[in-house]
Amino acid sequence: MSEEVQEKIVNVTINGKQIQAPSTLSAIQALWHAGYPRVKSVGCLEGVCGSCRVLVRKGGTAEVKMALGCQTLVEEGMEINFLVFPNPTHHTYDLKGIPNSWEVQAEFHRIFPEAVKCRHCHGCDVSCPKNIEVERGVQLATEGRFREAGELFVECVMCNFCMTACPEFIAPNHVGLFARRATAYFLFRPSNLIRRLEQMRQGQLTVAPGDDT
Ligand code: SF4
Ligand code: SF4
Repeated sequence: MSEEVQEKIVNVTINGKQIQAPSTLSAIQALWHAGYPRVKSVGCLEGVCGSCRVLVRKGGTAEVKMALGCQTLVEEGMEINFLVFPNPTHHTYDLKGIPNSWEVQAEFHRIFPEAVKCRHCHGCDVSCPKNIEVERGVQLATEGRFREAGELFVECVMCNFCMTACPEFIAPNHVGLFARRATAYFLFRPSNLIRRLEQMRQGQLTVAPGDDT
């Protein structure tokens, strides 16, 4: 890292406080540097735990982006606000209560009935600081493709931005977590077959006796 970059001091506003800090510091480090001992919403400091959610607006722009405070380097004119919001989830389940993998998709729809109401508004994708294809993950899970859905959420830090952004209260991150847990817990049978059975259960697919097409 060059001497010039290390010595550059920038003016930023963090949680309404005017701060001067070296541009090599993250938003959290800049607060500490300025003498504010912030500990709330501060976790691993390595972009893994998802605690330090921030809204960021760069100087001279109107666009606001979601990010993690530990991974956001301060820039001249930047405005940063730490977010603290409750993160309850109304989804509770016990995988041990699902008798076998044939039942997983049906159980998923019982646990996450709102998942099929996805409006494809992209709000979750736009809000995700990890650039996860959240919306696609939800779609895959509703189709019973839990292994594929779970793989999309591997980098999820459970920051809850997507849950907060979702107008249908889907809690996409918990959909992803369910997909990952279920994939690990069950040795899955073919997802297409499970989906067909679920369609039959819901009366969407009728099969005539003797029909082997
Ligand atoms: S999927 Fe949701 S909870 Fe996970 S990192 Fe992205 S916004 Fe955060
Ligand atoms: S924010 Fe919610 S409704 Fe919008 S695309 Fe994501 S999951 Fe669907």
